[in-house]
Amino acid sequence: MQKNYVIGFPRIGEQRELKKILESFWANNCSFDEVQKVAKVLKERHWKYQKDAGIDFISSNDFSLYDNMLDTAVMLGAIPQRFKALSDETLYFAMARGTKTATAMEMTKWFNTNYHYIVPELSAEDNYQLNASKIISEYKEAKELGITTKINLIGPLTFLGLSKNIDGADVYTSHDKVLKIYEELLQELAELDETITLQIDEPIFAKDNEAKVLSLIKPTYDRLANISSKIKMIVTTYFEHSNEASKILLHTPIWGIGLDFLYGQENLEILQLLSKSDKKLIAGVVNGRNIWKNDFNATLNLLEEIAQTIAKDNIIVSSSCSLLHSPFSLKYEQKMDADIKNWLSYANEKLDEIFLISKLFFKEELSTTQKAEVLKNKKANESRKTSPIIHDKEVQKRVKNIDKRERQTAYSKRIKLQKSLLGYENLATTTIGSFPQTDELRKTRREYKQGKLSQELYDKEIKNYIKECVSFQEECGLEVLVHGEPERNDMVEYFGEQLKGYGFSQNGWVQSYGSRCVKPPFIYGDISRPHPMTVDWTTYAQAQTDSIMKGMLTGPVTILNWSFVRDDKPRSEVSEQIALAISDEINDLQEAGIKIIQVDEAAFKEGYPLREAKIKLYEKWAVRDFKLAVSSAWDKTQIHTHMCYSNFNTIIKTIEAMDADVISIETARSGNKLLKIFQESGYKQEVGPGVYDIHSPRIPSVEEIVKQIELLLEVLPKEQLWINPDCGLKTRKWKEVKPSLQNMVKAVKIVRDELK
Ligand code: GLN
Ligand code: ZN
Repeated sequence: MQKNYVIGFPRIGEQRELKKILESFWANNCSFDEVQKVAKVLKERHWKYQKDAGIDFISSNDFSLYDNMLDTAVMLGAIPQRFKALSDETLYFAMARGTKTATAMEMTKWFNTNYHYIVPELSAEDNYQLNASKIISEYKEAKELGITTKINLIGPLTFLGLSKNIDGADVYTSHDKVLKIYEELLQELAELDETITLQIDEPIFAKDNEAKVLSLIKPTYDRLANISSKIKMIVTTYFEHSNEASKILLHTPIWGIGLDFLYGQENLEILQLLSKSDKKLIAGVVNGRNIWKNDFNATLNLLEEIAQTIAKDNIIVSSSCSLLHSPFSLKYEQKMDADIKNWLSYANEKLDEIFLISKLFFKEELSTTQKAEVLKNKKANESRKTSPIIHDKEVQKRVKNIDKRERQTAYSKRIKLQKSLLGYENLATTTIGSFPQTDELRKTRREYKQGKLSQELYDKEIKNYIKECVSFQEECGLEVLVHGEPERNDMVEYFGEQLKGYGFSQNGWVQSYGSRCVKPPFIYGDISRPHPMTVDWTTYAQAQTDSIMKGMLTGPVTILNWSFVRDDKPRSEVSEQIALAISDEINDLQEAGIKIIQVDEAAFKEGYPLREAKIKLYEKWAVRDFKLAVSSAWDKTQIHTHMCYSNFNTIIKTIEAMDADVISIETARSGNKLLKIFQESGYKQEVGPGVYDIHSPRIPSVEEIVKQIELLLEVLPKEQLWINPDCGLKTRKWKEVKPSLQNMVKAVKIVRDELK
């Protein structure tokens, strides 16, 4: 009997081997053969890890050289016209990364994770043709090693739902064509073995779907599940409940259904119906997207609850989603505090958890070592409940007794005071915070961290950089200056490193896209700020100029959304603690003479839940905590915020409720189209719509920026507008930044003259 299951496994490699070989290949330093060799080693190793851990359902085709959505497009032959002359790996990587003459395909976030997939481009003209070679060869590779895998596929409805149609037509017009290829594929796969287990991922079912999408489920799965009696078909969803779709799937001849009971507890509501269908339930109970050790007791309780309705024989214990979203293995964490490490579990450790939980749940005999493991799990979870490095009475008391949650004076009054004291003109110019991160700068930080550079020398280098930034901004004629953020590697890590309750890993890499990985810091305990974090650098910068120096902080919601967050407290409580720490920093900055402080919320929108029903709650505490973070600001202290996107259509009221005095946003690429919502909704606060796109090395001309500002003035009055680039400049080169900002300042002068 097969009793436990893993939805998918990370592929980047425990030492990021795939990243390294891909980047070497792209830099023409090795051949594609060598890439394939490494890929083969990784696949084998990953299968072996799962097999050795006792996992029954191990996947093939969860591997990818870049992305599984891209693989699916290639499998279908959905190749955009501009790449059609290419073939094989040249084609594949061109689609992902572009060539000199063909722009790369778009990339976007995979649901609410930090993984990014390639967005397929469909057209009514397309003629699809099956290419099953990758899928078949991976299955055979595993088989040769004695491992019979389940084959992972991205489902046709998710594939379509996440694609875009370049003719502007509805993507579902391609449904029949796409489904025909899936049918052909399944026919081929059925020939591979006596029985074939197929996992078809349909995470799109975890969203609020239109009736039209729901109406396609039954015809799609009736067709697919009837192709061959040799195929056992499992449809998996994750990240949320999928009750609407589940109800329909129960009436199709699929073999099993995979549900996430951690991020979609509502899936429990479908069990009654499911029990009548005699389908297998792949029960997602081990978190595939965090780093915390499972609590066996809690998980067994959950499984028992499920077993009250579903026959135990029909339950298979599983990860909640692919382990792609957690780091690989704890074995390389050599520097971590032993207590903290004992609370963690990365993908490899999660395999053991899934195995042991299934043993316990099915009441199988445990060996002595296994019993010891179970005991260790219990102890680790107990220690988390009481450890003084997690639980800080002072912080908890402070949160309980918060008496001031927002600024005391209304915006309309504050802004008058600020304008008169700060004395900035209409269309005031500023930047979003960072200036180019040069190689020397990175080296300085690295050597300082490694202890190769003394504190004194480090301070001197950073101060020199700040000084240069300030004098450039003065020469250029910018009005509100920034220090340039040379001390920061990353806008969350920098704060995390200084906050109590934050931890860092050496090897906690998670794939973000292609060969890119991120290493999010993690919040394990109550958060507090032992000492000021930015005051010294900011006051040093202020001392170099008579202009206003803008302080630069990261907001609580963004800090939260870009970290792994402890799972023993609701996110909203953690966010509140961070907010208090930020409010202390704001107070120290203003006491030190800083008059404008920007609190970045680049990831505010990223935290939005997948389901409408949960959005209100998120907005409520996210707004609450931004306001709490800036509640310490005096009336005369001007609070800015920055958000890295431009489509505010559905969240404008929420943004307004955050009550920042000024918001800068990313509208440069949309003219003034997306700014209109600010006017239509009667938004009162000041706005800095980015006037040029910093994501490209292109230097915008004066005329172009003048035109852009004029467009903005069609929407909002000059009194309400600031002029700035659309994001931080850290990824750009000085040779691009200097002329661009000079042109921006010139453009503002021209427009101001016109307005006189
Ligand atoms: N202040 C940050 C910077 O300029 C903001 C970055 C961001 O929005 N992602 O780099
Ligand atoms: Zn930004």
